Amino acid sequence: GFKRASRIASLEISEIVQLAERAAVLRAEGRDVISFATGEPDFPTPLHVVEAAHAAALAGKTRYPATLGTAELRAAIAAINDVTAKEVIVSTGAKQVLANAMLATLEPGDEVIMPAPYWTSYSDIVSMAEGSPVVVACPMAEGFKLSPAALEANITPRTRWLMLNSPSNPSGAIYSPEEIRALADVLARHPHIWILADEIYEHLNFVPFHSFKACAPELAERTLIVNGVSKAYSMTGWRIGWGVGPAELIKAMGTVQGQITSGACSIAQAATLAALTGGQALLDERRSAMRARRDKVVRALNAIPGIDCPVPDGAFYAFPNVEGVLKAGGFASDADFCGWLLDKAGIAIVPGRAFGLPGHARLSFAYSDPELDAGLARMSAAVTARI
Ligand code: PLP
Repeated sequence: GFKRASRIASLEISEIVQLAERAAVLRAEGRDVISFATGEPDFPTPLHVVEAAHAAALAGKTRYPATLGTAELRAAIAAINDVTAKEVIVSTGAKQVLANAMLATLEPGDEVIMPAPYWTSYSDIVSMAEGSPVVVACPMAEGFKLSPAALEANITPRTRWLMLNSPSNPSGAIYSPEEIRALADVLARHPHIWILADEIYEHLNFVPFHSFKACAPELAERTLIVNGVSKAYSMTGWRIGWGVGPAELIKAMGTVQGQITSGACSIAQAATLAALTGGQALLDERRSAMRARRDKVVRALNAIPGIDCPVPDGAFYAFPNVEGVLKAGGFASDADFCGWLLDKAGIAIVPGRAFGLPGHARLSFAYSDPELDAGLARMSAAVTARI
């Protein structure tokens, strides 16, 4: 019979995708389901970006691109990041940047420290690359942030990477320059550790954002910055992300990429170039729209008994503590609660366990106001009736 390779034996399709698919099935059965499960802006891709893609296709930019990215796009990303093009790789989404980095560097059993809550794919990508995720719980009382002491306590001789995500999916936490400095001081004492700073929500910030590299320039020769157009420019389907890091690492990641995709879609790269070099006013407009939604969602969640929702500083997720609901409603776990909410009220949200921090749930607010209003009202009614 069929047998999975051991490197993926423990992996499942992401719980986020599973929930979104279950919501779609219920909807196809005629149920009225509102899903807040997916981390995808509801805005359209900007028109000038779509037009650039069309023009690129008509101009014959339809051949295999260079493995590490088109010269034009790498140069543009290098200019924005104040590095040379050799320090840039363009991949099929930020997700592939992460996978390239892990496959290019991890030996079996190498450890990767990830503060929880973390984006679901971090642990799975590390596992797929035969590394060991080292999950460090960062509770709500600590702003969901990694402290220097917790970092220090989890370092071993086998630690290969620290994965840091600011602004964070799912918590919205943004590290201040002082907080980054404090972590950098620990890392300076452990030169065997590399830093993967995932800054894909850079432009979705409601407090000032500071890049890890800008705050810790002395660690640049072991820092990989990950970014992309999916979130800020509403380009999730175009599948373009990039990594900025030391040339040797980038070259090794290119070796992996060359055998997996041969490089990212040439037309999507032309579109990305237009996104990065065209007018940037849309970033402010979308940030303001998200901030208004954030305020509405946090207010509505905190009005539901048993739910305690801190204000996220960035990204587009609320990550409330739902332990009060679990206790009062007799739910066995956050997953039990989320399953009930979908079946009973037709609302899809993702249990905290998918992010390595149970007792919470993630609700994306990258949805329209009518959807948010209707969904939150329904969620409130269902929870209030149960507890
Ligand atoms: N990093 C984080 C923290 C994310 O939330 C996501 C998408 O959900 C990604 C990376 C991957 O983005 P992309 O669409 O560029 O693969």
